[in-house]
Amino acid sequence: MVSRMAEKTAKWPQNVPGKYYVDESCIASDFCIAAAPNNFKMDDSGHAYVFKQPENEEEERQCREALAGCPVCAIGDNGIGND
Ligand code: SF4
Repeated sequence: MVSRMAEKTAKWPQNVPGKYYVDESCIASDFCIAAAPNNFKMDDSGHAYVFKQPENEEEERQCREALAGCPVCAIGDNGIGND
């Protein structure tokens, strides 16, 4: 069970436009950067953000893995992947 969902209205401004984003609840665990290094980066101020939306199936799979494994559910996908 997911205890919370990422908040579109609390996205970090560094996220590129598109489906995936990181919101303000990120605790900088680094999980998403390990899971999807082509798409997530750590900002100097201590939180992750999406610097590139997935452009192929492998990146999409990695982004889904990042979203599923984020310990605080800070990654959103605009509801597209919630099945
Ligand atoms: S997995 Fe979640 S908490 Fe960890 S850095 Fe990424 S967005 Fe932040």
